[in-house]
Amino acid sequence: MPELPEVEISRRGIEPHILNQTVIEVRIRHHRLRWPIPRKLPQYLEQQRVNKVSRRGKYLLLETSNGTLLIHLGMSGSLRICQPDTSFDKHDHFELLFSNNTVLRLRDPRKFGCVLWTDQPAQQHKLLSKLGPEPLSTDFNGEYLFSKSRKRSCSIKALIMNSQILVGVGNIYACESLYLAGINPKRKAGSISEQRYIRLADNIKQVLESSIKQGGTTLRDFSREDGQPGYFAQNLHVYGKTDSTCLQCNSVIKRFTQQARSTFYCSTCQT
Ligand SMILES: [Zn+2]
Repeated sequence: MPELPEVEISRRGIEPHILNQTVIEVRIRHHRLRWPIPRKLPQYLEQQRVNKVSRRGKYLLLETSNGTLLIHLGMSGSLRICQPDTSFDKHDHFELLFSNNTVLRLRDPRKFGCVLWTDQPAQQHKLLSKLGPEPLSTDFNGEYLFSKSRKRSCSIKALIMNSQILVGVGNIYACESLYLAGINPKRKAGSISEQRYIRLADNIKQVLESSIKQGGTTLRDFSREDGQPGYFAQNLHVYGKTDSTCLQCNSVIKRFTQQARSTFYCSTCQT
């Protein structure tokens, strides 16, 4: 599943190809994604110039003077840049043809992604308005997380995965940052000291930044004709490492299910 680092890498990958370009044609091959692609989208978007390519949480925002296109990659979505005559397959549901003869194409086999339009300020859109701060911004730090955790009985893992508290920490990054911070994922959020939250916030920034850096070097070229959509490999310490040993203490990494998701951790190092 594309997580924040992949969405950010996608943003950086497509931006040089579509920024300041005008949308010539909107092509919708399949309307039914998580929510239907608006049928009037061609009317809103054609002849509009993309003034900014930004990201909020896992939403990509293509801003024009008419409004903003919101794209979410869902469970299996990916974007690529191709030529107008590049053949498409049955999972290529949506594309934009730009004035520089470039095509931005969305592939989404499981159709959990979305393509939506708003003519209001994008931050006020119902999918974005309740989102917590960006983890890599200065708005997010240990003091903030500590203040949000008081009187909360949920687990620390549930807290940092709650997008109203903080965006962009999916299961992989929650497991990895809690490991680096030495915090047991089951620990109650309200029982953790401010000092530990300061370390955890730094670790969250660290895992996301290193993943973005990794993606920048290993991800496919967005404009390669044969570029297969895919997500980049990551350097992980605990996630998916059941039966491997902890790099710090040699204990076996354990897995259990928490809120219907797999949690991986070291029961010796994480307390
Ligand atoms: Zn350990």
